[in-house]
Amino acid sequence: MPELAYINGRVMPIEDAVVSVEDRGYQFGDAVYEVIASYGGKMFCIKEHFVRLDRSMKELHFPIAQIDEIRRAAVDLFSKAKIERAAVYIQVSRGVSPRNHSFPANIPVQVVMTVRKIEEKNPPIRETGISAITVEDFRWGRCDIKTVQLLPNVLAKQKALEAGCFDAIFVSKDGIVREGSSSNLFILSGGMLITHPLTPDILPGITRSLVIDICREKEYPVQERFFDKSELYEAVEVFLTGTITEVLPVVKIDGRPVGNGKVGPVARMFQEGLLVRLKNE
Ligand code: PMP
Repeated sequence: MPELAYINGRVMPIEDAVVSVEDRGYQFGDAVYEVIASYGGKMFCIKEHFVRLDRSMKELHFPIAQIDEIRRAAVDLFSKAKIERAAVYIQVSRGVSPRNHSFPANIPVQVVMTVRKIEEKNPPIRETGISAITVEDFRWGRCDIKTVQLLPNVLAKQKALEAGCFDAIFVSKDGIVREGSSSNLFILSGGMLITHPLTPDILPGITRSLVIDICREKEYPVQERFFDKSELYEAVEVFLTGTITEVLPVVKIDGRPVGNGKVGPVARMFQEGLLVRLKNE
């Protein structure tokens, strides 16, 4: 079960994979990415991830990339690695070119991928829930594009860890709750699930849209609207969603218990709803 890497058509062990120092992802953060999880040897929501990757590249005016070719290469790399429970990481940069801010002319994008085993957390945090802190959202204005420019996310996560918590929740200067450092966020308030609407301030998460879809299927009330930090603090339940995160209950925020401080039935219902989707895809 080798953990493999791919660089522009070449497959190799991860430890042998190196890219040029002139890769624009390395120099400028001029790159976009996706992470796809597999369950039982099958990549989940491939189509949705490639639609988003394609959109990210178009939003940044990357040269026309062969998205279907990248998709085939990702599936091929995953099947070569033979890892049942894997994270397939796909990064596309604007290419390799001498350092210069302006877009280089006529060079191909650089495609880098890795396939690694996902280690389940022990103790299982999806059962116990996690604690989080809120941090000011000082990211750029296009958080809807999945770029590798994750420094604010990295700093927020580290701040949470240093505070003895698992994750950080971004809150805008004027108090609007955005999302987690690598996840979207839902609250249960007034008998309905509420999540930030799709604007340039958050990533359009694939798990977020699955949860909304499960709500529609179960006729569970859901609203995409803004809410502030006081509504977050008063929520009955809070959970994060993401490809690796899945549905992760938050039981403490800024030292205050969420609801009764225990994982609630609604988070559990959506954890199970997601498992059903995984099995039936
Ligand atoms: N927001 C951010 C900032 C993220 O990094 C992620 C993880 N990709 C998400 C939301 C969740 O997105 P998805 O459900 O597509 O993994």
